[in-house]
Amino acid sequence: MELIDLEFSAHEMRTMADQVVARCVEHITTLPRQPLYGVHDAEALCERMRESSPDSGTPLTALLDDLFTTYIPQSFNTPSPGYLAYIPGGGLFPAALADFIADTTNRYTGIWQAAPALVQLEANALEWLREWMGFPIGTRGVFTTGGSMATFNAVLCARERHLGVDIRRGVLYTSDQAHHCVIKSAKLAGIMPDRVRSIPCDAQFHVAVDALREAIAQDRRDGLLPFMVVSNAGTTNTGAVDPLDAVADLCVAEQLWHHVDGAYGAFFQLCDDTRAVLRGIERADSLTLDPHKGMFMPYGTGALLVRDGAALRAAHGATADYLPDMPSASEFYDPSQHGPDLSRGFPGLRMWLTIKLYGADAFRAAINEKRALALDAAARVAQLPHVVLDAPPELSLFPFHLTWPNATLAQEDAATRELMAAVSQRGRVMISGAVAGGRYVGRVCVLSFRTHAAQIDHLVEDMDAAISEVVAKHRTLSQ
Ligand SMILES: *Cc1c(COP(=O)(O)O)cnc(C)c1O
Repeated sequence: MELIDLEFSAHEMRTMADQVVARCVEHITTLPRQPLYGVHDAEALCERMRESSPDSGTPLTALLDDLFTTYIPQSFNTPSPGYLAYIPGGGLFPAALADFIADTTNRYTGIWQAAPALVQLEANALEWLREWMGFPIGTRGVFTTGGSMATFNAVLCARERHLGVDIRRGVLYTSDQAHHCVIKSAKLAGIMPDRVRSIPCDAQFHVAVDALREAIAQDRRDGLLPFMVVSNAGTTNTGAVDPLDAVADLCVAEQLWHHVDGAYGAFFQLCDDTRAVLRGIERADSLTLDPHKGMFMPYGTGALLVRDGAALRAAHGATADYLPDMPSASEFYDPSQHGPDLSRGFPGLRMWLTIKLYGADAFRAAINEKRALALDAAARVAQLPHVVLDAPPELSLFPFHLTWPNATLAQEDAATRELMAAVSQRGRVMISGAVAGGRYVGRVCVLSFRTHAAQIDHLVEDMDAAISEVVAKHRTLSQ
Protein backbone atom coordinates (compact mmCIF):
# COMPACT_ATOMS: atom_id res chain seq x y z
CA MET A 1 0.00 0.00 0.00
CA GLU A 2 1.24 3.46 -0.95
CA LEU A 3 2.35 5.52 2.06
CA ILE A 4 0.36 8.76 2.33
CA ASP A 5 1.55 11.75 4.34
CA LEU A 6 -1.45 13.17 6.21
CA GLU A 7 0.27 16.54 6.67
CA PHE A 8 -0.27 19.32 4.11
CA SER A 9 2.31 21.84 2.95
CA ALA A 10 2.13 25.42 4.24
CA HIS A 11 0.84 26.55 0.86
CA GLU A 12 -1.82 23.84 0.77
CA MET A 13 -3.00 24.66 4.28
CA ARG A 14 -3.36 28.33 3.40
CA THR A 15 -5.24 27.57 0.22
CA MET A 16 -7.63 25.21 1.99
CA ALA A 17 -8.24 27.62 4.86
CA ASP A 18 -8.79 30.51 2.43
CA GLN A 19 -11.43 28.49 0.60
CA VAL A 20 -13.23 27.67 3.84
CA VAL A 21 -13.07 31.25 5.13
CA ALA A 22 -14.36 32.59 1.81
CA ARG A 23 -17.35 30.24 1.95
CA CYS A 24 -18.10 31.04 5.61
CA VAL A 25 -17.90 34.80 5.15
CA GLU A 26 -20.09 34.60 2.06
CA HIS A 27 -22.54 32.54 4.11
CA ILE A 28 -22.70 35.03 6.97
CA THR A 29 -23.02 38.11 4.77
CA THR A 30 -25.93 36.58 2.85
CA LEU A 31 -27.75 35.15 5.89
CA PRO A 32 -30.66 37.63 5.83
CA ARG A 33 -31.45 36.61 2.24
CA GLN A 34 -31.32 32.88 2.86
CA PRO A 35 -34.57 31.01 3.59
CA LEU A 36 -35.47 30.73 7.26
CA TYR A 37 -37.01 27.33 6.81
CA GLY A 38 -34.98 25.40 4.26
CA VAL A 39 -36.07 21.80 4.85
CA HIS A 40 -37.79 20.49 1.71
CA ASP A 41 -38.02 16.88 0.57
CA ALA A 42 -35.38 15.95 3.15
CA GLU A 43 -36.24 12.24 3.22
CA ALA A 44 -35.36 11.81 -0.44
CA LEU A 45 -32.16 13.82 -0.06
CA CYS A 46 -31.02 11.86 3.02
CA GLU A 47 -31.68 8.59 1.25
CA ARG A 48 -29.62 9.72 -1.74
CA MET A 49 -26.82 10.76 0.61
CA ARG A 50 -26.20 7.34 2.11
CA GLU A 51 -22.91 5.89 0.92
CA SER A 52 -20.33 3.38 2.05
CA SER A 53 -17.00 4.58 3.35
CA PRO A 54 -14.91 6.19 0.61
CA ASP A 55 -11.56 4.47 -0.01
CA SER A 56 -10.05 7.43 -1.78
CA GLY A 57 -10.26 11.15 -1.11
CA THR A 58 -12.34 13.91 -2.69
CA PRO A 59 -11.05 17.44 -3.38
CA LEU A 60 -12.05 19.99 -0.74
CA THR A 61 -13.77 22.24 -3.28
CA ALA A 62 -16.22 19.52 -4.19
CA LEU A 63 -16.99 18.80 -0.54
CA LEU A 64 -17.50 22.50 0.18
CA ASP A 65 -19.83 22.76 -2.81
CA ASP A 66 -22.03 19.97 -1.48
CA LEU A 67 -22.01 21.41 2.03
CA PHE A 68 -22.76 25.01 1.17
CA THR A 69 -25.10 24.54 -1.77
CA THR A 70 -27.03 21.43 -0.74
CA TYR A 71 -26.66 20.32 2.87
CA ILE A 72 -26.43 23.54 4.90
CA PRO A 73 -29.46 25.21 3.24
CA GLN A 74 -31.59 22.16 4.18
CA SER A 75 -32.12 23.39 7.72
CA PHE A 76 -33.82 25.79 10.09
CA ASN A 77 -31.76 28.93 9.64
CA THR A 78 -31.12 29.31 13.38
CA PRO A 79 -28.45 32.07 13.10
CA SER A 80 -30.65 34.23 10.83
CA PRO A 81 -31.81 37.66 12.05
CA GLY A 82 -35.44 36.66 11.45
CA TYR A 83 -35.26 33.53 13.59
CA LEU A 84 -37.69 34.13 16.48
CA ALA A 85 -38.65 30.45 16.91
CA TYR A 86 -37.85 28.02 19.72
CA ILE A 87 -34.81 29.52 21.48
CA PRO A 88 -32.71 31.23 18.80
CA GLY A 89 -29.07 30.30 18.39
CA GLY A 90 -25.97 32.40 17.99
CA GLY A 91 -22.76 31.76 16.17
CA LEU A 92 -20.43 34.66 16.91
CA PHE A 93 -17.61 34.59 14.37
CA PRO A 94 -14.69 34.98 16.83
CA ALA A 95 -15.78 31.75 18.54
CA ALA A 96 -15.24 29.89 15.26
CA LEU A 97 -11.74 31.36 15.03
CA ALA A 98 -11.07 30.23 18.60
CA ASP A 99 -12.19 26.72 17.67
CA PHE A 100 -9.84 26.80 14.70
CA ILE A 101 -6.95 27.74 16.95
CA ALA A 102 -7.92 25.14 19.54
CA ASP A 103 -8.24 22.41 16.92
CA THR A 104 -5.02 23.20 15.06
CA THR A 105 -2.85 23.59 18.17
CA ASN A 106 -4.65 20.61 19.74
CA ARG A 107 -3.34 21.01 23.26
CA TYR A 108 -4.54 18.74 26.04
CA THR A 109 -6.80 20.79 28.32
CA GLY A 110 -8.37 17.89 30.23
CA ILE A 111 -5.79 18.21 33.00
CA TRP A 112 -4.12 21.32 34.36
CA GLN A 113 -0.52 20.06 34.08
CA ALA A 114 -0.67 19.46 30.33
CA ALA A 115 -1.48 23.08 29.43
CA PRO A 116 -1.70 25.18 32.63
CA ALA A 117 -1.98 28.59 30.98
CA LEU A 118 -4.67 27.47 28.55
CA VAL A 119 -6.64 25.84 31.35
CA GLN A 120 -6.32 29.12 33.27
CA LEU A 121 -8.04 30.92 30.38
CA GLU A 122 -10.95 28.51 30.76
CA ALA A 123 -10.97 29.06 34.53
CA ASN A 124 -11.05 32.82 33.91
CA ALA A 125 -14.05 32.48 31.61
CA LEU A 126 -15.87 30.43 34.26
CA GLU A 127 -15.01 33.08 36.85
CA TRP A 128 -16.52 35.76 34.62
CA LEU A 129 -19.76 33.76 34.40
CA ARG A 130 -19.68 33.46 38.19
CA GLU A 131 -19.34 37.23 38.60
CA TRP A 132 -22.12 37.98 36.11
CA MET A 133 -24.48 35.61 37.91
CA GLY A 134 -23.71 37.04 41.36
CA PHE A 135 -22.35 33.73 42.69
CA PRO A 136 -19.80 33.83 45.56
CA ILE A 137 -16.08 33.15 45.43
CA GLY A 138 -15.57 29.43 45.93
CA THR A 139 -18.05 28.62 43.19
CA ARG A 140 -16.71 26.15 40.66
CA GLY A 141 -18.03 25.38 37.23
CA VAL A 142 -17.55 23.32 34.16
CA PHE A 143 -18.16 23.89 30.47
CA THR A 144 -20.43 21.28 28.96
CA THR A 145 -21.77 20.57 25.50
CA GLY A 146 -25.07 22.21 26.42
CA GLY A 147 -27.70 22.92 29.05
CA SER A 148 -28.81 19.32 29.22
CA MET A 149 -25.38 18.06 30.27
CA ALA A 150 -25.01 20.93 32.72
CA THR A 151 -28.28 19.91 34.35
CA PHE A 152 -27.15 16.28 34.46
CA ASN A 153 -24.01 17.28 36.35
CA ALA A 154 -26.10 19.33 38.76
CA VAL A 155 -28.33 16.37 39.59
CA LEU A 156 -25.20 14.30 40.14
CA CYS A 157 -23.80 16.84 42.63
CA ALA A 158 -27.08 17.05 44.53
CA ARG A 159 -27.47 13.29 44.59
CA GLU A 160 -23.94 12.72 45.91
CA ARG A 161 -24.33 15.44 48.52
CA HIS A 162 -27.77 14.46 49.81
CA LEU A 163 -28.31 10.79 49.06
CA GLY A 164 -24.92 9.10 49.07
CA VAL A 165 -25.62 5.50 48.12
CA ASP A 166 -29.31 5.70 49.09
CA ILE A 167 -30.38 6.70 45.60
CA ARG A 168 -33.66 4.89 45.20
CA ARG A 169 -35.53 6.86 47.88
CA GLY A 170 -34.42 10.26 46.57
CA VAL A 171 -37.07 12.54 45.06
CA LEU A 172 -36.50 15.46 42.70
CA TYR A 173 -39.07 18.25 42.16
CA THR A 174 -39.60 20.46 39.17
CA SER A 175 -42.55 22.21 37.53
CA ASP A 176 -44.79 20.93 34.77
CA GLN A 177 -43.18 23.60 32.56
CA ALA A 178 -39.64 22.26 33.06
CA HIS A 179 -37.49 21.39 30.06
CA HIS A 180 -37.49 17.67 29.31
CA CYS A 181 -33.75 17.58 29.97
CA VAL A 182 -34.58 17.57 33.70
CA ILE A 183 -36.16 14.14 33.56
CA LYS A 184 -33.43 12.90 31.21
CA SER A 185 -30.73 14.27 33.50
CA ALA A 186 -32.35 12.66 36.52
CA LYS A 187 -32.43 9.32 34.75
CA LEU A 188 -28.77 9.60 33.71
CA ALA A 189 -27.92 10.33 37.33
CA GLY A 190 -29.84 7.28 38.53
CA ILE A 191 -33.03 9.06 39.61
CA MET A 192 -35.84 7.22 37.83
CA PRO A 193 -38.95 8.97 36.46
CA ASP A 194 -41.13 7.66 39.32
CA ARG A 195 -38.99 9.80 41.64
CA VAL A 196 -39.41 13.01 39.65
CA ARG A 197 -42.39 15.18 40.66
CA SER A 198 -43.91 17.54 38.14
CA ILE A 199 -45.46 20.34 40.22
CA PRO A 200 -48.36 22.34 38.72
CA CYS A 201 -48.01 26.00 37.80
CA ASP A 202 -50.12 29.12 38.26
CA ALA A 203 -52.01 30.72 35.34
CA GLN A 204 -48.83 32.41 34.14
CA PHE A 205 -46.73 29.24 34.22
CA HIS A 206 -44.77 29.81 37.48
CA VAL A 207 -44.33 26.86 39.79
CA ALA A 208 -46.92 26.89 42.59
CA VAL A 209 -44.73 27.06 45.71
CA ASP A 210 -47.52 25.84 48.03
CA ALA A 211 -48.06 22.76 45.88
CA LEU A 212 -44.30 22.19 45.91
CA ARG A 213 -44.19 22.41 49.70
CA GLU A 214 -47.12 19.99 49.99
CA ALA A 215 -45.55 17.47 47.59
CA ILE A 216 -42.34 17.49 49.63
CA ALA A 217 -44.29 16.90 52.85
CA GLN A 218 -46.26 14.06 51.27
CA ASP A 219 -43.10 12.31 50.10
CA ARG A 220 -41.56 12.66 53.55
CA ARG A 221 -44.69 11.12 55.08
CA ASP A 222 -44.27 8.26 52.59
CA GLY A 223 -40.73 7.59 53.80
CA LEU A 224 -38.98 9.02 50.74
CA LEU A 225 -36.02 11.43 50.68
CA PRO A 226 -36.69 14.76 48.93
CA PHE A 227 -33.26 16.06 47.85
CA MET A 228 -33.51 18.52 45.00
CA VAL A 229 -35.69 21.20 43.39
CA VAL A 230 -35.06 22.34 39.81
CA SER A 231 -36.68 25.70 39.12
CA ASN A 232 -36.84 27.66 35.88
CA ALA A 233 -35.22 30.98 35.06
CA GLY A 234 -37.16 31.24 31.81
CA THR A 235 -39.11 28.23 30.56
CA THR A 236 -38.79 27.12 26.96
CA ASN A 237 -42.57 27.14 26.45
CA THR A 238 -43.47 30.62 27.63
CA GLY A 239 -40.36 32.24 29.14
CA ALA A 240 -41.77 32.15 32.68
CA VAL A 241 -39.38 32.71 35.58
CA ASP A 242 -40.31 30.79 38.74
CA PRO A 243 -40.36 32.72 42.05
CA LEU A 244 -36.68 31.90 42.62
CA ASP A 245 -36.40 33.67 45.97
CA ALA A 246 -39.40 31.83 47.39
CA VAL A 247 -38.15 28.49 46.10
CA ALA A 248 -34.72 29.26 47.58
CA ASP A 249 -36.38 29.95 50.97
CA LEU A 250 -38.27 26.68 50.78
CA CYS A 251 -35.10 24.78 49.88
CA VAL A 252 -33.26 26.31 52.85
CA ALA A 253 -36.10 25.37 55.19
CA GLU A 254 -36.35 21.84 53.78
CA GLN A 255 -32.59 21.42 53.34
CA LEU A 256 -32.86 20.62 49.64
CA TRP A 257 -30.46 21.33 46.80
CA HIS A 258 -31.82 24.20 44.69
CA HIS A 259 -30.84 24.05 41.03
CA VAL A 260 -31.93 26.78 38.62
CA ASP A 261 -32.29 26.01 34.93
CA GLY A 262 -31.12 29.23 33.34
CA ALA A 263 -30.39 27.70 29.93
CA TYR A 264 -32.62 30.24 28.23
CA GLY A 265 -32.85 33.03 30.78
CA ALA A 266 -29.79 33.30 33.02
CA PHE A 267 -27.94 35.81 30.83
CA PHE A 268 -30.74 38.30 31.47
CA GLN A 269 -28.77 38.90 34.67
CA LEU A 270 -26.78 41.20 32.36
CA CYS A 271 -29.91 43.29 31.65
CA ASP A 272 -30.88 46.11 34.04
CA ASP A 273 -34.57 45.63 33.38
CA THR A 274 -34.85 41.92 34.22
CA ARG A 275 -32.61 41.54 37.25
CA ALA A 276 -35.60 42.00 39.59
CA VAL A 277 -37.49 39.14 37.89
CA LEU A 278 -34.46 36.88 38.34
CA ARG A 279 -33.93 37.84 41.98
CA GLY A 280 -32.91 34.76 43.94
CA ILE A 281 -30.95 33.19 41.07
CA GLU A 282 -27.73 34.14 42.90
CA ARG A 283 -28.84 32.03 45.88
CA ALA A 284 -29.05 28.78 43.90
CA ASP A 285 -26.84 25.83 44.79
CA SER A 286 -26.23 25.34 41.09
CA LEU A 287 -27.15 27.04 37.84
CA THR A 288 -27.40 25.80 34.25
CA LEU A 289 -26.18 28.31 31.68
CA ASP A 290 -26.28 27.98 27.93
CA PRO A 291 -23.81 30.39 26.34
CA HIS A 292 -24.93 28.99 22.98
CA LYS A 293 -28.23 30.74 23.64
CA GLY A 294 -27.87 33.91 25.75
CA MET A 295 -24.25 34.61 24.87
CA PHE A 296 -24.72 33.92 21.15
CA MET A 297 -21.96 31.32 21.07
CA PRO A 298 -21.98 28.45 18.56
CA TYR A 299 -23.73 25.25 19.62
CA GLY A 300 -21.81 23.01 21.94
CA THR A 301 -21.34 25.65 24.66
CA GLY A 302 -23.14 24.98 27.93
CA ALA A 303 -21.96 25.65 31.46
CA LEU A 304 -22.74 24.72 35.03
CA LEU A 305 -21.95 26.78 38.12
CA VAL A 306 -21.95 25.11 41.55
CA ARG A 307 -21.96 27.44 44.55
CA ASP A 308 -20.02 25.04 46.77
CA GLY A 309 -17.20 24.13 44.41
CA ALA A 310 -16.28 21.19 46.65
CA ALA A 311 -19.55 19.50 45.72
CA LEU A 312 -18.68 19.58 42.01
CA ARG A 313 -15.20 18.29 42.75
CA ALA A 314 -16.60 15.57 45.02
CA ALA A 315 -18.83 14.36 42.18
CA HIS A 316 -15.99 14.15 39.65
CA GLY A 317 -12.65 14.14 41.46
CA ALA A 318 -10.59 11.02 40.81
CA THR A 319 -7.00 9.85 40.62
CA ALA A 320 -5.28 7.32 38.41
CA ASP A 321 -1.82 5.80 38.35
CA TYR A 322 -1.04 7.14 34.90
CA LEU A 323 -2.02 10.76 35.68
CA PRO A 324 0.27 13.38 37.22
CA ASP A 325 -0.54 14.47 40.78
CA MET A 326 -3.54 16.76 40.79
CA PRO A 327 -3.22 20.37 41.89
CA SER A 328 -4.68 20.86 45.35
CA ALA A 329 -8.37 21.68 45.36
CA SER A 330 -8.01 25.35 46.13
CA GLU A 331 -4.97 26.06 43.98
CA PHE A 332 -5.72 25.72 40.29
CA TYR A 333 -8.77 24.72 38.33
CA ASP A 334 -8.54 21.32 36.70
CA PRO A 335 -11.34 20.49 34.21
CA SER A 336 -11.29 16.72 34.60
CA GLN A 337 -11.71 17.07 38.38
CA HIS A 338 -14.91 19.09 37.84
CA GLY A 339 -16.64 17.23 35.03
CA PRO A 340 -17.04 13.80 33.48
CA ASP A 341 -14.67 14.32 30.52
CA LEU A 342 -10.93 13.64 30.45
CA SER A 343 -9.78 14.16 26.86
CA ARG A 344 -11.97 16.85 25.38
CA GLY A 345 -12.14 19.81 23.04
CA PHE A 346 -11.24 23.21 24.40
CA PRO A 347 -14.56 24.99 25.01
CA GLY A 348 -12.87 27.55 27.26
CA LEU A 349 -11.04 29.14 24.35
CA ARG A 350 -14.15 30.13 22.41
CA MET A 351 -15.57 31.70 25.56
CA TRP A 352 -12.36 33.43 26.59
CA LEU A 353 -11.42 34.78 23.17
CA THR A 354 -14.94 36.00 22.43
CA ILE A 355 -15.43 37.78 25.77
CA LYS A 356 -11.97 39.35 25.61
CA LEU A 357 -12.47 40.48 22.03
CA TYR A 358 -15.83 42.19 22.56
CA GLY A 359 -15.68 43.03 26.28
CA ALA A 360 -18.56 42.32 28.67
CA ASP A 361 -20.28 45.64 27.90
CA ALA A 362 -21.02 44.42 24.37
CA PHE A 363 -22.94 41.46 25.82
CA ARG A 364 -24.79 43.69 28.29
CA ALA A 365 -25.82 45.99 25.45
CA ALA A 366 -26.94 43.09 23.26
CA ILE A 367 -29.03 41.49 26.02
CA ASN A 368 -30.59 44.86 26.87
CA GLU A 369 -31.46 45.28 23.20
CA LYS A 370 -33.12 41.82 23.05
CA ARG A 371 -35.21 42.73 26.07
CA ALA A 372 -36.29 46.05 24.55
CA LEU A 373 -37.14 44.39 21.22
CA ALA A 374 -39.26 41.75 22.98
CA LEU A 375 -41.17 44.43 24.93
CA ASP A 376 -41.79 46.35 21.71
CA ALA A 377 -42.87 43.18 19.89
CA ALA A 378 -45.25 42.17 22.71
CA ALA A 379 -46.86 45.61 22.88
CA ARG A 380 -47.43 45.72 19.14
CA VAL A 381 -48.57 42.10 18.79
CA ALA A 382 -51.07 42.63 21.62
CA GLN A 383 -52.62 45.46 19.57
CA LEU A 384 -53.28 43.20 16.58
CA PRO A 385 -56.88 42.05 16.07
CA HIS A 386 -57.85 38.68 17.63
CA VAL A 387 -54.60 38.36 19.59
CA VAL A 388 -54.57 37.53 23.31
CA LEU A 389 -51.23 37.61 25.14
CA ASP A 390 -51.10 34.62 27.52
CA ALA A 391 -48.31 36.18 29.57
CA PRO A 392 -46.16 39.29 29.30
CA PRO A 393 -42.52 38.88 28.29
CA GLU A 394 -40.74 38.35 31.60
CA LEU A 395 -37.44 38.18 29.71
CA SER A 396 -37.54 38.14 25.88
CA LEU A 397 -40.16 35.48 25.09
CA PHE A 398 -43.94 35.77 25.14
CA PRO A 399 -46.84 33.40 24.34
CA PHE A 400 -50.10 34.39 22.65
CA HIS A 401 -53.12 32.87 20.95
CA LEU A 402 -55.88 33.89 18.54
CA THR A 403 -59.52 34.25 19.51
CA TRP A 404 -62.83 35.62 18.19
CA PRO A 405 -66.37 35.68 19.54
CA ASN A 406 -67.78 32.18 20.19
CA ALA A 407 -64.53 30.45 19.21
CA THR A 408 -63.97 27.06 20.83
CA LEU A 409 -60.62 26.08 22.31
CA ALA A 410 -60.06 23.59 19.48
CA GLN A 411 -60.72 26.30 16.89
CA GLU A 412 -58.39 28.73 18.62
CA ASP A 413 -55.67 26.07 18.76
CA ALA A 414 -56.05 25.24 15.07
CA ALA A 415 -56.04 28.89 14.02
CA THR A 416 -53.04 29.77 16.18
CA ARG A 417 -51.12 26.78 14.85
CA GLU A 418 -51.92 27.82 11.31
CA LEU A 419 -50.84 31.38 12.03
CA MET A 420 -47.35 30.20 13.02
CA ALA A 421 -46.99 28.40 9.70
CA ALA A 422 -48.52 31.26 7.68
CA VAL A 423 -46.19 33.87 9.18
CA SER A 424 -43.12 31.66 8.78
CA GLN A 425 -44.08 30.92 5.16
CA ARG A 426 -43.88 34.60 4.33
CA GLY A 427 -40.17 34.07 4.82
CA ARG A 428 -39.09 37.15 6.76
CA VAL A 429 -39.40 35.79 10.32
CA MET A 430 -39.80 32.28 11.69
CA ILE A 431 -41.91 31.64 14.79
CA SER A 432 -42.98 28.42 16.51
CA GLY A 433 -45.57 27.34 19.07
CA ALA A 434 -45.93 25.09 22.08
CA VAL A 435 -48.64 23.51 24.19
CA ALA A 436 -48.88 25.21 27.58
CA GLY A 437 -51.66 25.45 30.14
CA GLY A 438 -53.87 23.14 28.09
CA ARG A 439 -53.81 25.14 24.88
CA TYR A 440 -51.62 25.71 21.85
CA VAL A 441 -49.80 29.02 22.14
CA GLY A 442 -47.78 30.86 19.56
CA ARG A 443 -44.44 32.18 20.80
CA VAL A 444 -42.06 34.93 19.90
CA CYS A 445 -38.55 34.57 21.32
CA VAL A 446 -36.02 37.32 20.65
CA LEU A 447 -32.50 36.13 21.35
CA SER A 448 -30.45 36.17 18.16
CA PHE A 449 -27.68 38.77 18.26
CA ARG A 450 -28.60 39.52 14.64
CA THR A 451 -32.24 40.40 15.40
CA HIS A 452 -32.87 44.15 15.43
CA ALA A 453 -35.83 46.55 15.07
CA ALA A 454 -36.39 45.71 11.38
CA GLN A 455 -37.21 42.09 12.20
CA ILE A 456 -39.79 43.17 14.78
CA ASP A 457 -41.41 45.35 12.11
CA HIS A 458 -41.50 42.33 9.79
CA LEU A 459 -43.01 40.18 12.54
CA VAL A 460 -45.81 42.64 13.26
CA GLU A 461 -46.56 43.32 9.57
CA ASP A 462 -46.59 39.65 8.63
CA MET A 463 -48.70 38.65 11.63
CA ASP A 464 -51.14 41.43 10.85
CA ALA A 465 -51.50 40.26 7.26
CA ALA A 466 -51.78 36.56 8.15
CA ILE A 467 -54.20 36.92 11.08
CA SER A 468 -57.14 38.21 9.07
CA GLU A 469 -56.83 35.37 6.54
CA VAL A 470 -56.46 32.68 9.19
CA VAL A 471 -59.30 33.94 11.36
CA ALA A 472 -61.65 34.45 8.39
CA LYS A 473 -61.04 30.84 7.33
CA HIS A 474 -61.56 29.32 10.77
CA ARG A 475 -64.62 31.44 11.44
CA THR A 476 -66.26 30.17 8.26
CA LEU A 477 -65.35 26.59 9.18
CA SER A 478 -67.04 27.02 12.57
CA GLN A 479 -70.33 28.31 11.13
C1 LIG B 1 -32.39 24.80 25.66
C2 LIG B 1 -32.85 24.53 27.04
C3 LIG B 1 -32.39 23.44 27.75
C4 LIG B 1 -31.50 22.37 27.15
O1 LIG B 1 -30.27 22.91 26.78
P1 LIG B 1 -29.43 22.26 25.58
O2 LIG B 1 -28.32 23.21 25.42
O3 LIG B 1 -30.36 22.23 24.39
O4 LIG B 1 -29.01 20.90 25.99
C5 LIG B 1 -32.78 23.30 29.06
N1 LIG B 1 -33.62 24.19 29.63
C6 LIG B 1 -34.11 25.23 28.97
C7 LIG B 1 -35.02 26.20 29.66
C8 LIG B 1 -33.73 25.46 27.65
O5 LIG B 1 -34.22 26.51 26.98
